Amino acid sequence: MSVETIRRWKIGDVEVIRIVELYDFQDDIWVLLKDATPEVMLRHKDWLQPQFSTPDGRMRMNFQAFLVVSQGRRIMVDTCIGNDRQREYDVFSNLSGTFLEDLAAAGYPRGTIDTVLCTHLHLDHCGWNTHKVDGKWVPSFPNARYLFAKSEVDFWQKKKAAGEAHMEHVVDAIDPILDAGLADYVGPDHKITDEVWLIPTPGHTVGHVSVHIASQGQEAVITGDVVHHPVQLAEPDWVNNFDFDIEKGAATRKAFFDRYADKDALVIASHFFDPSAGHIVKDGEAWKFEVD
Ligand SMILES: [Zn+2]
Repeated sequence: MSVETIRRWKIGDVEVIRIVELYDFQDDIWVLLKDATPEVMLRHKDWLQPQFSTPDGRMRMNFQAFLVVSQGRRIMVDTCIGNDRQREYDVFSNLSGTFLEDLAAAGYPRGTIDTVLCTHLHLDHCGWNTHKVDGKWVPSFPNARYLFAKSEVDFWQKKKAAGEAHMEHVVDAIDPILDAGLADYVGPDHKITDEVWLIPTPGHTVGHVSVHIASQGQEAVITGDVVHHPVQLAEPDWVNNFDFDIEKGAATRKAFFDRYADKDALVIASHFFDPSAGHIVKDGEAWKFEVD
């Protein structure tokens, strides 16, 4: 997007840097949550506006990734959509953004990244795994190991083998990593460093994970797509149109909110608009999101 959208957080000795690809994306909330209405968005306007909802109840969100720096490691958590893609949705097709340049401007040129972790393998979380050079898709982070959940890779490979539609991201952002021998399969609670580890949050996809950070008594979590928009804290049972397993998605979401509610843990949310990070607070039977 641009360097102005870079944000940084410190969690003890760990640094998290936000790199945004699509900034302040606005759309109708029912595109994401089929039962949602502008009226309910307005009911929660005291804490959703102005950051997360327009005055007329449309959602505001980002498509973004996070670099986590821990104990000398440079860990890219998710890699957004990518340039030059042909996708099911026009909004994701033929982008020509500055994601890799922004990463370098933040102090981390792509050649210095040693680990890439995709929370899941939807097209908006694995795109910059690769980029196009002389008409070929090549790894964007040639010196990194790419960590994948095996169940997630198997799921998408099976769909591709069955000839399903919209598998372009498997061909251009996952296969080249496997072919280059850069992939490592990890379990859903894999420890990347002493300060950074995965927690299983399945439902949105089969092998979905979130990323927990703990250092010097401070904690944070990078959500992935266990939640897309803050209104889901107030309405956790609303069906997410993109959840693979709707029931498990809702159960995992509520367990996640419970785990992090009323704690000091900073919740860094993969699709939340500015400031993207805050705290989950219990609110009656449900929850809400508070930003500093
Ligand atoms: Zn997503």
